[in-house]
Amino acid sequence: MKKLILSIIFISIILLVVWNHSTITGSVANNKTETVERDLEITTGEPEPDKQQLIDIDNTDEKTIYLTFDDGPSSATNDILDTLKHYHAKATFFMLEPHMKQFPDIVKRIVEEGHSVGLHGVTHNKKLFYKSEQSALDEMNKGQEALEKLTGIKSTLIRTPYGSVPYLLESYRKELDNEGFKLWDWNVDSSDWSLGSKAYINVTIKQIEKLHKGNVTPIVLMHDKNETAKHLSTLLEHLTKNGFLFKKIEEYNKPYSFNCYDRCYRMEDK
Ligand SMILES: [Zn+2]
Repeated sequence: MKKLILSIIFISIILLVVWNHSTITGSVANNKTETVERDLEITTGEPEPDKQQLIDIDNTDEKTIYLTFDDGPSSATNDILDTLKHYHAKATFFMLEPHMKQFPDIVKRIVEEGHSVGLHGVTHNKKLFYKSEQSALDEMNKGQEALEKLTGIKSTLIRTPYGSVPYLLESYRKELDNEGFKLWDWNVDSSDWSLGSKAYINVTIKQIEKLHKGNVTPIVLMHDKNETAKHLSTLLEHLTKNGFLFKKIEEYNKPYSFNCYDRCYRMEDK
């Protein structure tokens, strides 16, 4: 009996020693991994968004079109969304901050139905938006915040009011770029804003066909308004029959924006 008790004590001591040792080496090993991970973090830092990896929308064999709707959401958005759904089309909405607040459920529907959401500022007033580098940035930040509150999406896709030329000087572009915003203009102007009827359909189709022949992917400027919504299905019907696919602008796409060349000037100068 004495022998048995002694052996149990002996075995327990051995087990205790072994267990202790393994915990110590284990924690040393853990520390090692942590150090390696920390070192990696120090050397690589935060993953930098690599601009080289952005995908050019022209790099495709598909007949692709990017439809974009500005100034919404509005009382017309639901109609636009119904038409897009019918044609299995995706689009991009550049929205104004006050309108997002006015129609929060529509903003959510846009996202739920798989479209892209971008920012168009707050005031849509040339004099206020383009007043300074800071005012342009502030408006986009405010829009970004409102959209994120509603949908959880922190969009960096932007379109400035009336397009980036002539008021978005290089210094403005740099400022927006530094904040991670991606500036999108267009290469097809549907003129839905000026024609105000179904006349915009033919104007748009002609431009799209011309660009497609030159292997340039069309980015169509349209507006989130009733007159546009009313005739949208005619446009989509025609383009679908001609084999076009409608895609949304993605965060990973290389932005397409107008070049200033020597056309840009400061708002207050003129
Ligand atoms: Zn606009």
